[in-house]
Amino acid sequence: ATPLSVMVGTGKGARAGILIRSAEALETAHKLDTVVLDKTGTVTAGTPVLTDVSTADGFTEDELLRLVAAAEADSEHPLAAAITDGARTRGLTVPAATAFDSVTGKGIQATVDGKALLVGTARLLADVGIDSDHLATTAHALAAQGKTPVLAAVDGRPAGVLAVADTVKGDSAQAIAALHRLGIQTVILTGDNARTAAAIARQVGVRRVLAEVLPEHKADEVRRLQGEGRTVGMVGDGINDAPALAQADVGLAIGTGTDVAIEAADVTLISGSLSGVVTAIRLSRATMRNIR
Ligand code: ADP
Ligand code: MG
Repeated sequence: ATPLSVMVGTGKGARAGILIRSAEALETAHKLDTVVLDKTGTVTAGTPVLTDVSTADGFTEDELLRLVAAAEADSEHPLAAAITDGARTRGLTVPAATAFDSVTGKGIQATVDGKALLVGTARLLADVGIDSDHLATTAHALAAQGKTPVLAAVDGRPAGVLAVADTVKGDSAQAIAALHRLGIQTVILTGDNARTAAAIARQVGVRRVLAEVLPEHKADEVRRLQGEGRTVGMVGDGINDAPALAQADVGLAIGTGTDVAIEAADVTLISGSLSGVVTAIRLSRATMRNIR
C-alpha cells in the first residue's frame, strides 16, 4: 500500500468516526471473512435493567432483592448496576455487605446480614455443590426472552432467580445484515448463557453463537476460528474482550467501551455502533482497490 492512499483512507475513517491505529489494520480489514461480536455493550446497549424477581419458598421478592442488591453493591458488572438500581426504584433500603468477592465470568459472593450470598450463573452455584435444578425452568423461560437470569443462593440454598434485560442497539441488526451482504460471517461471543445469547442472536440475525465463554477463553475462540483458516475481526467493549481484540486480525473497540479494550484494539468506533464496522471494512476495500 502506498503511504498516501493509507493516509487518505485513515483520514476518511477519522471523519466518519473510525480511528484506525495502523496502516496494517486498514490493509487487513478488507480480507476479513468473519466478524466476532461480543454481546453485552457491543450488540446490546450494555445498560441492562432489572425486569423480574422470582423467589423460592421462604423469601418475598423484596427480601431477596434487598439481599442480592447488597451483595452486588461493590461489583462493577453492568448486571450489578441493574440490580442495585432496581432495588432503589422499589424503594428498598439496602444493607452493607462484607466479604465481597467476584468470581470472574460467573458472579459474586458476599455476606449480608450475616447470610452468605452467592449471585450469578447456575455454574457458580454448582461449583460449590448447590443444586439449582428447580430454578432451571424459570431461568430458561427468562433466557428464552433474551434476558439474563441471575441465580441467587442464600446460606447454601437456592433462593430465587432475578432477570436483567438489555436492549439491542438500534442499528445492530442493520449493520449485521450489511456485513452478511459483504460476504462476511458473523458470530456472537459471550460469557452470558447460551439461551440468552441465542435469543439475542435471533433478534439481530446472527446464526452462530459461542456462549458461556469465560473471559480468559475469548481469545482462544478467536484463535480457533483463525485455525479454521478464517481472517477474523473482533468487536468488543469490555476489559474481558481485550485479549480477543488483540488476538484478532483486526480488533475493533466500541468507543464508549473501556480504555483497556480501546488500547488493545486496532480500530476505535467512536459512535459505538456496529455500523462503524461496516464502514471500516468498506473503507479498507476501497483503499486496497485504489492501491492495486
Ligand atoms: P458478559 O459481559 O458477556 O456477560 P462476563 O464474563 O462478564 O460476560 O459474565 C458472564 C456471566 O457471569 C454473566 O452473563 C452473568 O451471568 C454472570 N455474572 C458475572 N458477573 C456477575 C455479577 N456481578 N452478578 C451476577 N452475575 C454475574
Ligand atoms: Mg461487553
